Amino acid sequence: MTQKWDVVIIGAGLAGYVAANYLAKNDLSILILERGKHVGGRAKTDKIKHQYFNLGPHALYKKGKAKPILEELRINLNGKSPKLTGFLIENNTAYVAPLTPSGLFSTSFLNWKERLEWVGVLMKVNRMDTEKLADLTFQHWVKQIALSPKVEALLYVLARLTTYCHAPDKVSAKLIVSHLKVGMSGVLYLDGGWQTIIDQLHNKAVISGIQVHSHSVVKHIAPSVDHHTLMLSNNEEILAKRVICTTHPQELNNMLGAEANLLQNRFFAQITPIKGATLDVALTQLPNPKLSFAMGITAPFYYSVHSNDAQLSDDGKSTILHVFKYHSPHLHIDGKEVKHELEQFLEQLQPEWQKYVITKRFIPNIIVNQRLPRIGDEQNLKRSETDIPGLYIAGDWASPNSILSEGAISSGKQAAQEIIKIENEMI
Ligand SMILES: Cc1cc2nc3c(=O)[nH]c(=O)nc-3n(C[C@H](O)[C@H](O)[C@H](O)COP(=O)(O)OP(=O)(O)OC[C@H]3O[C@@H](n4cnc5c(N)ncnc54)[C@H](O)[C@@H]3O)c2cc1C
Repeated sequence: MTQKWDVVIIGAGLAGYVAANYLAKNDLSILILERGKHVGGRAKTDKIKHQYFNLGPHALYKKGKAKPILEELRINLNGKSPKLTGFLIENNTAYVAPLTPSGLFSTSFLNWKERLEWVGVLMKVNRMDTEKLADLTFQHWVKQIALSPKVEALLYVLARLTTYCHAPDKVSAKLIVSHLKVGMSGVLYLDGGWQTIIDQLHNKAVISGIQVHSHSVVKHIAPSVDHHTLMLSNNEEILAKRVICTTHPQELNNMLGAEANLLQNRFFAQITPIKGATLDVALTQLPNPKLSFAMGITAPFYYSVHSNDAQLSDDGKSTILHVFKYHSPHLHIDGKEVKHELEQFLEQLQPEWQKYVITKRFIPNIIVNQRLPRIGDEQNLKRSETDIPGLYIAGDWASPNSILSEGAISSGKQAAQEIIKIENEMI
């Protein structure tokens, strides 16, 4: 029998669950369809040998849009803020990172003139009206604001750290600088990993009567005026008055097939993702316990010990760290080579770490964010409802001015609010 729903949400990640929880208060029948065996999407945490591995390094902005939305939904966020005390690495040299007041004084990376320039730039970033950067790439903006090559390099490092973007000549300065501003106010590493957010959102949704079907792959969406028809891979048909799609934009186009013929679909087809490689590691101990954070200056590498600020194992005794490489878009990835690079970077920071491994996991080419934010993208993402009435988008690519969990969570809320508004107008 064909089932009919008020709202069907495709995807049980952060965007889908946030949308569902806002809609839950509105007496609507809601179904979430998730292709995977498990829910959570890229916010899932895998428990391997009693160690909690997020899908690569995950940090929640303390002063962003996502945290207040989660708090409004009464999601508990337990964890601490890591300090940016650590090192910046160039070839074989480690410099104290000038990302904290003490780091700024003690670093040998900058001379006194460069230090003053760096402080001035950080202050400008803090006060920056990012709307004024709408027509600039990040690289263009950096060239305008930085005088010395070292300050330029530091801005690129900070941008990678806070946005995962490693394409300064392609990305929008407006979005990167606004994330940079928020990122500089600190982040949280979460006890138990990001799965704790998903589990709470899932439980609240289910208690409110929302149904969640995993192992349910949507293959086709046939739009129509009254009800959209969703065809699943098992040939089941589902009718939905409204659909929120949180999949990759290209996948949405594929699901629409011949219906993906609008100008908007052409924009969706052009979207490219932000990708990286992650080496997630659990150790019995750290060879060099004092070193908890490092970034490459030119080489796009990240290292951070997350278990210093979050409980990420059953007994709380082991060390969980992430080493990450930010990929440039469209670059061919040789997985073996990247794994070697990340292991060598870790070896440089934590000599003989391999002796202490409990478990480790390497993912060579993972999508961090579905959209590399380009100049003008926001014009195409003002509303959640697409040009097909009743079909909405949400997800980390679908928010006009945010990416990452900021984009996923705020777009989930926005899609729900647009639907609630229309429903209320119809009463
Ligand atoms: C390595 C890494 C590091 C990250 N670090 C950070 C960080 O530090 N801070 C931060 O804020 N964010 C970070 N992120 C990004 C964050 O995890 C994502 O932005 C967020 O989880 C995306 O949520 P989403 O709901 O938009 O998409 P997803 O989590 O991808 O959810 C979409 C869901 O849709 C399902 N789906 C797809 N197609 C179909 C279909 N046809 N039928 C049914 N279901 C389907 C998928 O299986 C998936 O579960 C990181 C991500 C990665 C990978």
